[in-house]
Amino acid sequence: CRASLEVQDSTSNRTELQVHGLSETVVGVLGGGQLGRMLCEAASQLAIKVVILDPMENCPASNLCHYHMVGNYDDSATVEAFAKRCGVLTVEIEHVDAATLEKLEQQGVDCQPKASTIRIIQDKYLQKVHFSRHAIPLPKFVQIDDLEGAKRAADLFGYPLMIKSRRLAYDGRGNAVAKNEDEISSAVNALGGYARGLYVEKWAPFVKELSVIVARGRDNSLLCYPVVETIHRENICHIVKSPANVSWKILKLATEVACKAVSSLEGAGIFAVELFLTADGQVLLNEVAPRPHNSGHHTIEACFTSQFEQHLRAVVGLPLGDPSTKAPAAIMYNILGEDEGEPGFLLANQLIRRALRIPGASVHWYDKPEMRKQRKMGHITLVGPSMGILEARLQSMLGEETKDDQ
Ligand code: ATP
Ligand code: MG
Ligand code: MG
Repeated sequence: CRASLEVQDSTSNRTELQVHGLSETVVGVLGGGQLGRMLCEAASQLAIKVVILDPMENCPASNLCHYHMVGNYDDSATVEAFAKRCGVLTVEIEHVDAATLEKLEQQGVDCQPKASTIRIIQDKYLQKVHFSRHAIPLPKFVQIDDLEGAKRAADLFGYPLMIKSRRLAYDGRGNAVAKNEDEISSAVNALGGYARGLYVEKWAPFVKELSVIVARGRDNSLLCYPVVETIHRENICHIVKSPANVSWKILKLATEVACKAVSSLEGAGIFAVELFLTADGQVLLNEVAPRPHNSGHHTIEACFTSQFEQHLRAVVGLPLGDPSTKAPAAIMYNILGEDEGEPGFLLANQLIRRALRIPGASVHWYDKPEMRKQRKMGHITLVGPSMGILEARLQSMLGEETKDDQ
């Protein structure tokens, strides 16, 4: 579906064409990474047409979408041209041009979730201000502009000091930790300096990280997926376990906090609410993503309606599906790049070949053209009769290389 001139011309009035599927609304997605790719996979089942805007010609979604416009989703003119092809505009990444979305909304373009939501969420400091105004529990935080400000924050919060970039953060790439005063400057430099726009969060001494995927329909109805536990490696989501092994009381509290957070934002679609569980039973909000999320990948195999299908249903205005699980347990394992280039591909390939032999395992490979260390290249979902059995299967999958791998 990569763009040729002919294809561009023949699709330029997509919204006016008859689409004989479940919905005649063409879904435009800003971003064509793995989330866009999995949206396209879900769309194909419902014969919903998805068009993608992404600067990379061979981005993961490019081969699966109805049409791929090659261009920047943070460029105003490009987003405006793209919007003309879509019945509804949505995102698979929050780092898009919110001002353009606001302008398009004023012109009558249907953005789901709303531009106001993207504006709040893409700036993690503004996001914290927003949620604290809505009385959502979260770690204390303060904006910092210089070393003196950082030291004052450390006096308030103590060490370790979690310093975060306000914008363009993902996979922990906007986070740096200072263990003491001497480390503040190097941590700030690692984030690109104070001019980049930084803030500090009080360290959250969590015993577990939890996540709740929440879907909101166009009628504002909310549905929550069962609470999951997320396990991060070097700030990057690595493993997701569903359901989370916490008390009924914590499940209820996590779901309540997630619903309250999403209720404070506008628009339809999937929202992921990342949470910290502390030893004394508090549930604190870490951040919200206004789109399908890594902590919901298991829903493809483990739930009646995946987060991707749910997002499409929500934004085009179809009835929301059942978010409950169809299997007692699921584990999602991210295939993160272990090495650069060919050696990295070889290691991933060996892991995948072991996974293909595991009962109940489904492999997802995102077809990214370049392998880089710590990059999310794919994921494997294990679904089975109990968490104990799945943990044993995960260990055997991660175990020693078998003869066949060599
Ligand atoms: P994502 O890829 O989820 O968007 P991100 O780059 O926005 O990640 P965060 O979610 O802010 O980063 O943080 C990544 C991880 O760092 C968290 O999941 C958690 O493990 C750790 N972390 C973040 N904030 C804190 C905190 N205040 N105290 C302790 N650990 C934290
Ligand atoms: Mg984030
Ligand atoms: Mg996060």
